[in-house]
Amino acid sequence: MENNAVDRNLLDEVKKLGAKDMELCMQCGNCAAACPLSSGTNTFPRRIYRYLQLGLKDKLLESPEPWLCYYCGDCNTDCPRGGTGGNHDGHPALADHPV
Ligand code: SF4
Ligand code: SF4
Repeated sequence: MENNAVDRNLLDEVKKLGAKDMELCMQCGNCAAACPLSSGTNTFPRRIYRYLQLGLKDKLLESPEPWLCYYCGDCNTDCPRGGTGGNHDGHPALADHPV
């Protein structure tokens, strides 16, 4: 059974680990169109930011992409919110989030 429990502290916890401005993401999808790790309905990094915004901790933790990101920066190019998608402080923060 899927766990859609909401953790209201999730975004603040990830911010403490170094993530910045992830609440600014407006879900336009430009970053997912550029990222080599994104495919079909498995959008990345857009989907991960949505999990953070909604506090969906279990969905975040079962997602392998934050560990696979290799910081190419392609997702940063067309972000209308100033490069949230290419937040290189944010991806390691997600990967470091305690299980
Ligand atoms: S920096 Fe990471 S999330 Fe951004 S395009 Fe590259 S692999 Fe994808
Ligand atoms: S390009 Fe920026 S605003 Fe658009 S979905 Fe990605 S992170 Fe969010």
